[in-house]
Amino acid sequence: MFLDNLGQLSSQGSSFRLYKRVSEQYNDKTILNSVKQLVPDKILESSTNLENQSLQPLLHWFKYDFMKWMPKELPCPSCNKGPMEIQIFPGESAAVRYTENRRCNGCGAMHLFPRYFGILDIAQARIGRCSEWSILFGAILNSFSIQTRLVHDFLDHCWNESSLDENGKMNWVHIDSTLEYPISFNHPYYYEQNWGKKYEYVLAFGATDLEDVTRNYTQNWQIVQKRRGKKNKLEEFRRSYLAM
Ligand SMILES: [Zn+2]
Repeated sequence: MFLDNLGQLSSQGSSFRLYKRVSEQYNDKTILNSVKQLVPDKILESSTNLENQSLQPLLHWFKYDFMKWMPKELPCPSCNKGPMEIQIFPGESAAVRYTENRRCNGCGAMHLFPRYFGILDIAQARIGRCSEWSILFGAILNSFSIQTRLVHDFLDHCWNESSLDENGKMNWVHIDSTLEYPISFNHPYYYEQNWGKKYEYVLAFGATDLEDVTRNYTQNWQIVQKRRGKKNKLEEFRRSYLAM
């Protein structure tokens, strides 16, 4: 059996399952201690106070030295023709969400990309798209006691929010390790302004609940409300998340 497109897998249920399992791992001291070891000492030294602007060295290291981006369309690594043809297979173990299986029509070369639930599996593979990047970067921030959660827009992108001190008050601040600094830090309107995002719900996930944070990411709140229609789905989302 294989699923025929990526869309089926970004469905609400599978996203919720992923974010619940990752949020639980964010409270796991053993996992956080391992993740902490990934960060080189020189990065830590240049981030004396790992908050606000001083997250820049960490963001830079993560994006340019540590993680690799896995494009959706991949040219063949053997004959360079492409893009390779893709099939999606359900995870063959509890650790794998699903596997992207690519095959080159020219030379027959194969390429497997397993999408993991586990933070340590992602840390070992060091490759992914926005979900792997935000899952692991969130774990790194949590390992330094910066409370961090996952955020998903249900339009094919996810990022982090960290609880940071802004003028003496703790606020959830937008952080996106896939973007270039300073856009990666506290630019919540970036997606709407530059990618033309048309939000209905942007949700933030914790180990025990989810939160509607859409309003923090839009300058067109009235239009978003219109887009949602009469029915507010938040309670339905919450029930289904808690049941995971
Ligand atoms: Zn090939």
